[in-house]
Amino acid sequence: MDIRIDRKEMLDRFLSYCRIDTKSDEESTTRPSSLKQLDLLRKLETELSEIGASEVSFDERGYVYATIPENLPEDHPRRGKVPAIGFVAHVDTSPAVTGKNVSPIVHDNYQGEDIVLPNDKTQVVSPKETPELADCIGHSIVTTDGTTLLGADNKAGLAEIMTLGCTLLRQPEILHGPVKIGFTSDEEIGKGADCFDIQKFGAEAAYTIDGSTVGEIEDETFCADSATVTIRGRNVHPGYAKGKMINSMKLTAEFIEKFPKDRLSPETTEGREGYIHPHRLVSEEETSVLHVILRDFEESGLVEQQGLLRKWATEIEESHPGSKIDIEIKHYYRNMKPRLNESPQIVDLALEAVAKSGLEAKKNVIRGGTDGAVLTAMGLPTPNIFTGAHNFHSKREWVSVNNMEKTVETLVHLTGLWMEKGKPGKR
Ligand SMILES: [Zn+2]
Repeated sequence: MDIRIDRKEMLDRFLSYCRIDTKSDEESTTRPSSLKQLDLLRKLETELSEIGASEVSFDERGYVYATIPENLPEDHPRRGKVPAIGFVAHVDTSPAVTGKNVSPIVHDNYQGEDIVLPNDKTQVVSPKETPELADCIGHSIVTTDGTTLLGADNKAGLAEIMTLGCTLLRQPEILHGPVKIGFTSDEEIGKGADCFDIQKFGAEAAYTIDGSTVGEIEDETFCADSATVTIRGRNVHPGYAKGKMINSMKLTAEFIEKFPKDRLSPETTEGREGYIHPHRLVSEEETSVLHVILRDFEESGLVEQQGLLRKWATEIEESHPGSKIDIEIKHYYRNMKPRLNESPQIVDLALEAVAKSGLEAKKNVIRGGTDGAVLTAMGLPTPNIFTGAHNFHSKREWVSVNNMEKTVETLVHLTGLWMEKGKPGKR
C-alpha cells in the first residue's frame, strides 16, 4: 500500500504548534491550569474541522475530541465490526522550562555533527548526549535556538495525529475502522486524564503518541504513591531548653540519613528498579514536613517502601521520647501492564505496525507515568507509542522530521491491522 504523507504540511503544523506558549502550571487551581493551553486546543479544533474530521468537539476543561469514521464499503465483511481505536496527545509543555517565544530551527540534511544552538552557545545538541541522533544522517532535525524548550513533547504527537487524520481522509483506499482523536491538557502536571470523557471518546483501546525513540512501544509505567512525613519535636526558649527541647530539624536530618545510599534512589537506579525519594522539606524546630515520592513497577514494591518509612519513624520515636512522626500515604497512579496483559492484541498490533513500517520494534518501560496510565486505570487501556523526539523538558530538545513520518506510517499501519483483525475486547 502506498501511504502518501504530506511531510511539509506536517512540519508546518508542528512548527506552528511549537510557537504557541502552552506551559502548564503546577500551582494553579483552574482547569486547565493555564488558560493559554486553550489557544492551541482551539486551533486544533479548527484544523480538525478543516481536514474533514467528524464529531469535532471542544471541552472548556481542556480537551478536543474528533472522529475519522469507518470507511469500509457496504459489502466488506468487517464493516461495522471493527473496534474503534483512539490516539491521544497533550498540548501542554513542562513547567520546568520556559515555553515563551519558542523559535524552532530546521537543520536539513543533518550530517552527524554537534549542533550548537545559536542564541545560547553553551547548549549543544550532540550524538554524544543522545546516540539516536547518530542514526539520523540525512534527516531534517528540528531544534530550539537554545533559550527555550522545543515542545516536541508533545507537539510532535499532535502533528503526527493530525497528519494521520489527513492521510486517512485523503486516501480512502486505506481501509480502517472508526479512529478517535483526543487532545488533552495538563499532562505534564499529572492531570491530563482527570476530566477525559472515556464514554464520549468511545474507543476500545487507545494509544498516547508521547514516546521517544523510533520503534519503541511502552506498555509499563511505574506504580506511584507519595508520602507526607510530619515530624514533631518540642520547641522551648533555647536559653532554657536543657533536657526539654526536641529539635524537629535534627530529627528530620536523622530520618533523611536513613534513606539507602547505594540503592532505592533516583541517582542509583535504572531500568526496572524502583526508588524512594525525598524531594521537598519545610522544617522548623517544632515541626517539619518532608515530602517523599515512592516508585516501583510492582505494587508490592510500594508496600515495602511504605514499610521502610514506618520502620525509620518508629526508630526515631523510640530514641527520642516525646517526638512524634506521622506518615500519610497518597495513591497516585499504577502500572498499566496488568490491564494491558488482559488484552494483548493492543500492544501486539502496535509492535506489528512498527515492523510493517520497516523499523525494529522494541518494548520499553516508562520510569514515570503517562496520561495512558491514568486512562488505563479509568478503563481505557492506553500504551504509549514513539514520536521521534528526544531530550524532553530541555533546551536541547530535538526531533527528526523523517522519524515523525515513520510515526505516522506506523499509525496508518496500526489502523489497518485493527481493521483486519482487531477483536472487540473487555472495556
Ligand atoms: Zn509528554
